[in-house]
Amino acid sequence: MSELTRRGLMAGAAAAGAALALPREAFAGAAAAGKQVPSFYRSKLGDFELTVVSDGARPIPLPPRFVLNVPNEEVLKAADAAYMPKGTVFAPFNPLLVNTGTKLVLIDTGYGPIAPTVGLLPQSLAAAGVDPKSIDIVVISHMHGDHINGLKNPDGSLAFPNAEIKVQARDWEFWMDDANMAKAPEGFVKASFGFARKIFGDIKTRVTIYQWGSEVAPGITAVDTAGHTPGHSSFAIQSGQSKLLFQGDVANVPDLFLTNPEWKVMFDNEPDQAVATRKRFYDMAAAEKVLISGYHFPFPGLGWVEKAGSGYRLVPAPWSPVL
Ligand SMILES: [Zn+2]
Repeated sequence: MSELTRRGLMAGAAAAGAALALPREAFAGAAAAGKQVPSFYRSKLGDFELTVVSDGARPIPLPPRFVLNVPNEEVLKAADAAYMPKGTVFAPFNPLLVNTGTKLVLIDTGYGPIAPTVGLLPQSLAAAGVDPKSIDIVVISHMHGDHINGLKNPDGSLAFPNAEIKVQARDWEFWMDDANMAKAPEGFVKASFGFARKIFGDIKTRVTIYQWGSEVAPGITAVDTAGHTPGHSSFAIQSGQSKLLFQGDVANVPDLFLTNPEWKVMFDNEPDQAVATRKRFYDMAAAEKVLISGYHFPFPGLGWVEKAGSGYRLVPAPWSPVL
């Protein structure tokens, strides 16, 4: 640091000190808000209107093996380099609302209020002026708790009472099978079976099963991105010439899993297939330069993925004040 800059900084600090010494009455005295605002972000895709409605975010303290093929120290080093809270991986949750002009479609529903900083989807929707009763279709990318729990209110009633609920065929088969649940290892996988039952056990007749390659709503096509779960799906959303890929959990947080596509996060059901899917998906997305909506990307999670080194990097879409 040059002498000039240092002196400037010290003068600044002295001035700040002097300001702090002023009597309280010298300040306006506005109370600090002390909490975050409900978060949503709107953009346009052709004739469609998109709204990312945040369900919140939370730091995940690492279990003994967070990434199967990499020691935790290395994971924490990458998390640290990305300025995540010490000793954790920080994961946001970004459901996407698509207004096609004829249908209001919600893709994934958030975690539900299982921790103080998640389960915020209802307040984000309210802030965005969206009545949950007005949602026509809820599409589930895969049946993990952080994507399905928000389908129900804490009292067990349906959060989107008028919506058709769509779940991918292979995921439904896998997660609703009692034999699979019986042989599931304790921990994350067992808990995921529990969430699937809690949410879908008593509403089976309300669920519509979808297949890859089919339209789940006008202009929204399910894409096979299996590996993270057996029926894990992404969605190609197209209006006119404009296209976006809702990627679900093809990769979790980008600083770890785009940079290192071969890292096998403990949440992947079929780790080898998940790695192959990741590479295929991002090679295609990078070549096409298609906009991506990432469920666990930093809010609002919109951006492009480019090849970088032996992996990929996220180029976040710039915030825009206009649609
Ligand atoms: Zn997830």
